[in-house]
Amino acid sequence: MSILIDGKATSQAKREALTQEVAAFREETGCQPALAVVMVGDNPASAVYVRNKHTACESVGMYTETLHLPEQTTEQELLALVEQLNQDARFHGILVQLPLPKHINETKVLDAISPDKDVDAFHPYNVGALVTGRERFLPCTPAGIMELLRFYGISVKGKNCVVIGRSNIVGKPMAMLLLAQDGTVSICHSKTNNLRQITQQADILVAAVGRPRFVTADMVKEGAVVIDVGINRLDDGKLCGDVDFDTVAPKAYAITPVPGGVGPMTITMLLYNTLTAAKLAVSGK
Ligand code: NAP
Repeated sequence: MSILIDGKATSQAKREALTQEVAAFREETGCQPALAVVMVGDNPASAVYVRNKHTACESVGMYTETLHLPEQTTEQELLALVEQLNQDARFHGILVQLPLPKHINETKVLDAISPDKDVDAFHPYNVGALVTGRERFLPCTPAGIMELLRFYGISVKGKNCVVIGRSNIVGKPMAMLLLAQDGTVSICHSKTNNLRQITQQADILVAAVGRPRFVTADMVKEGAVVIDVGINRLDDGKLCGDVDFDTVAPKAYAITPVPGGVGPMTITMLLYNTLTAAKLAVSGK
C-alpha cells in the first residue's frame, strides 16, 4: 500500500504554524502582512481562486484586499494600478490573478510588479534569484511540493527526478528546486523523445502536463514517488489529475491525490511569501 501524501493535512499544519508566526511578527513589529489581489474580468475559476486566497489570508491574521476590475479594463489602466500598488506601503505583496483577458499582455503586467512585492515569484528578477540560489520568494506550487516531500521525509538528494512540463509557473521552477536539493533532474515536454523510458527511471516523478490521467502505470518505476500537479475538469464536472491514480498508486511508494494533494499547498506558500514580503519591507532590504 503506497503512502497517500495528504496536502490538505500538511497545509493545515503549516497554516497553524504560520498563524503563530504572523502573530509574533505583528507583536514584534506592529506590522500586519498585507496582500493585494487584483482580478480582471469574471472568469468563474479565477473568482474561486481569489476568494480562497482572501479567506486564507484572513485565516492566518493577514490583511487582504481584492481589487476587482471590469473585463474591459485596458492594459494601461491595469499597469497604472500595479504601479499604484507598488508605491502603496500598506501592501507588502501584490498578486495579479491569471489568466488576464486576451487584450492584456500578461508578461508586461507581471513584469510591472515590484520584485519586492512579487509574492508569486514570477518576476524575472525573482526567477533569476531562484536559479542562482538567492531566492527570497519561492514559486508557490513547486515550493508547496518541496514542503510535501519534506513533511513526508522524502529526501531528494541524489535521486533521479523527472518533471513532465516546462512551464514558467510549474515545470521550470520545480526543476530548479529539486536541483537545489541535490536531485538529478530531467525536464520533459511535448517534444521529448521516448518519454516513457525517461519517466521509468524516475525516483521522483512530477507531472505538470494539464492532461487528464496522462501518466499511466507503465511509465512509472516500482517504488517511485509520484507528484500530480494537474488539475483537469472532466466532462462530468469532476476534477482529475495528470496521473492515472488508480493504476499508478499501487506501484508508487508515495503519491499525491487530486484533489487534496498539491493544490492546497499552493495558497499556503503564497501566505509564506506574503509574510516574507512584509519582513523585507520592515527590514528595508
Ligand atoms: P502548461 O503551461 O500548459 O504546460 C504544460 C506542459 O506540459 C508544457 O511544458 C508542455 O510541453 C507539456 N506537455 C504537454 N503535452 C505533453 C506531452 N504529450 N508529453 C510531454 N509533455 C507535454 O501548464 P502548467 O501551467 O504548467 O500546468 C500544468 C497543470 O498543472 C495544469 O493541469 C494546471 O491546471 C495545473 N496546475 C496546478 C496548480 C496547483 O496549485 N495544483 C498550479 C498550477 C498549475 P511544451 O512546453 O512542449 O508545450
